[in-house]
Amino acid sequence: MNDIHLFLRHAIELEREAARRYEELTEAMKTLGNPEVEAFFRTMAHFSRQHLAEAVARGGFRHLAKLPPVEFQWPDGVSPEQFSWVGVDGFLGVDHALELALDSERSGHAFYASIAAVSTNPRVKAMASEFAAEEAEHVADLEKWIAQSAKS
Ligand code: ZN
Repeated sequence: MNDIHLFLRHAIELEREAARRYEELTEAMKTLGNPEVEAFFRTMAHFSRQHLAEAVARGGFRHLAKLPPVEFQWPDGVSPEQFSWVGVDGFLGVDHALELALDSERSGHAFYASIAAVSTNPRVKAMASEFAAEEAEHVADLEKWIAQSAKS
């Protein structure tokens, strides 16, 4: 993927879905009565919204709602639509919620890393590397939470 605008449209879609899911997970943790994980998901939703705004700004897009349709080219296994966020029976436990969030972060990381690896446009490559590094941090954060949760 060498077109910076095409790359940013993918980033926007990915971050928007991630934010939406974190917001759902935040609500689910509120319902469950787990304020620590609720606060963590709320922060992660905020990061996704920030990423989203950054991608919109960098693309010079003014209105998110007015973006023209685009042919998405997701690398294998990365489409942001692939996850099912509702637990079996509509119940979402903490462990499952953390696993879902981890899947989402891994998918984001895989997307940015693969673009960074294959793009021949230095601007796209640099931006994708930067985003991949942030997603790698999110993956590490989630892994920490999952390890802690397993101990308690
Ligand atoms: Zn992330």
